[in-house]
Amino acid sequence: MDIQYLKGIGEKRARLFHKLGLFAVEDILCFYPRAYEDRTEIRKIQELRPGEAACFRATVAVPVTHARIRQGMELYKTKVFDETGELRLTFFNAPYVKNALTLGEEYIFYGKLEDPRSMVNPVFEREAGNATGRILPVYRATAGLSQGALRSAAKQALSKAEKREVLPDAIRQRFSLCHASFAADNIHFPQSAELLGIARRRLVFEELLLLQLGLAASRGGRTKGPVFAPPDMRPFFAALPFELTEAQRSAISDIQNDCTAGSCSRLIQGDVGCGKTAVAAAAAFTAFQNGYQTALMAPTEILAEQHARSLSALFMPLGLTVGLLTGRKKKELAGIANGEIHLAVGTHALLSESVTFHRLGLVITDEQHRFGVEQRKKLAEKAKSAGDEFVPQPNKLVMSATPIPRTLAQILYCDLDVTLMRGMPPGRTPVKTYVVAEETRPRIESFVKKTVAEGGQVYIVCPVIEEGEIGTASAETYAEKAANETYKDLRVGLLHGKTKNRDGVMRSFSEGELDILVATTVIEVGVDVPNATLMVVENAERFGLSQLHQLRGRVGRGKRESHCVLYMQSESARERLAVMKRENDGFAIAEEDLRLRGPGDFFGSRQHGLPEFKIADLSEDMSALHDSREAAEALRRDDPMLSRPEHAALQEAVAALLEQIGG
Ligand code: ADP
Ligand code: MG
Repeated sequence: MDIQYLKGIGEKRARLFHKLGLFAVEDILCFYPRAYEDRTEIRKIQELRPGEAACFRATVAVPVTHARIRQGMELYKTKVFDETGELRLTFFNAPYVKNALTLGEEYIFYGKLEDPRSMVNPVFEREAGNATGRILPVYRATAGLSQGALRSAAKQALSKAEKREVLPDAIRQRFSLCHASFAADNIHFPQSAELLGIARRRLVFEELLLLQLGLAASRGGRTKGPVFAPPDMRPFFAALPFELTEAQRSAISDIQNDCTAGSCSRLIQGDVGCGKTAVAAAAAFTAFQNGYQTALMAPTEILAEQHARSLSALFMPLGLTVGLLTGRKKKELAGIANGEIHLAVGTHALLSESVTFHRLGLVITDEQHRFGVEQRKKLAEKAKSAGDEFVPQPNKLVMSATPIPRTLAQILYCDLDVTLMRGMPPGRTPVKTYVVAEETRPRIESFVKKTVAEGGQVYIVCPVIEEGEIGTASAETYAEKAANETYKDLRVGLLHGKTKNRDGVMRSFSEGELDILVATTVIEVGVDVPNATLMVVENAERFGLSQLHQLRGRVGRGKRESHCVLYMQSESARERLAVMKRENDGFAIAEEDLRLRGPGDFFGSRQHGLPEFKIADLSEDMSALHDSREAAEALRRDDPMLSRPEHAALQEAVAALLEQIGG
């Protein structure tokens, strides 16, 4: 049913509705209010406060007068009273008022007091019900479309269409959820705050349930991998240059439990530097002992090289061969195909057609937030093409250093089990963090010079590449000034997303040929330069806390004490940035970030197909998330294709969502 079917919506206004994504009458049912105006309380005239909108009941004291002030400006005036006082009312260009307000009759008004004695353009009605005495929805509007028009459309939509019930009765009963049409009525025009709560809870549940079912379907759900026999890990542990931490041990044991059951789909979430590489290595060794190959995919060449280097050093004495495959380096193709290489480390070059495996049993993606779900899937598909034995799906391991708050992780990684690694290997000193303003610049500059003089290296992070907004540091300008002026005696490099030879620059820095690296956030992904002990972040207020934490993880990787300086250009950022000063735990920072910025901003451009929520708020709706997750899991167990008749509506809704998120 097209929205033009509704009263008051012609072709022109329909276009405004389209801007809000509303095309059919049914769309309006799911266009949930972003806020509410509580007009349930009816005050006395004396209780009205200037600047505060409220309802009151009053009687018309004098006939409505009319005056034309100038062309196009008509004034209608009257006075009303109740037992506590009197009030002047003024209406602009509102000819209807003359007939609508009758002398001596009582009305309910809603408006904001201008001064103690008068009010402009209040709304009114004889009986509370439409505009007064109730909770009214406030919608996300667009220019030219008033709340009144949106409310009227919502009201009509509710009477003309019915929100489809997609939740099976059994689920509604089990989680005590109200019916869809009751929820629709009360989310738009709630009878009371309590009923609004009931409606909202149900709609949040529905939204989160659909999302989880949709994501699970688009990710192919959990799969069976090859069953590994419990390996003898003693040679591996003996070869490690350090004792494993408790967190590493327990992550390794989680993976081994999965693999011996042949169903490893696991996310290892651990802060930067907590030692995930050793965990990945243990998994690769397990596969090796079982006669399977492992593929380890990293997001950049440098990272892949770094992994290949450290892992071949570790594995050489154990007879496990490591091969590196990047865009530039392809000569290992044959070894991967014939099985001489046991662990193939690479970039997304691993995904290319020409790469075939001999017997791929485990795929690991490092720093996975850089990879899309599709890439992950594609890597897993490589197992199928393995020559020797048909392996439908390998075991899967995903390593992430982005500390995603638990709530989000549960949704995003509904197809993975999650292991959290908390804590750091011994001997780390936390990075000392300072939040500073412009006047501290001279001191920071001497600190940079001192750091280099003592043999250290420095990262300077700018929010943008090129000169643009005033007051925002750009990496190019900064690097130029640094090289020619501020730090002209030092060796300054520049690295950003458009740098041609990114890997080359990074390599020079890591090999100590540069003292200072001016960069954008491209350096955020796990490169290890232990000699870098100072990071300066310009315009720190422009970054999310989790991102700052990620950046800060680039220093503090060696034995020497490290420092991180956060420049802020606006004092208002101080409270938020102060979190960085007191917190070193990425998970705590992420939770705080989510709380301060909301889930939309938190994820920003990295949403990876997560649609915008219509109603759920992940920082609040924990219990609904919990319930919907339980329901989603039960459904996936009992009726994974949602093919039973009682799940037909749900199946359609999931399919529609998948269409929308491009699954
Ligand atoms: P991330 O979790 O960020 O990938 P890495 O695996 O790169 O962390 O480890 C960071 C550093 O800590 C590396 O230099 C690594 O050798 C070292 N490391 C890892 N585990 C331990 C441990 N148990 N004891 C001491 N050092 C460790
Ligand atoms: Mg790492």
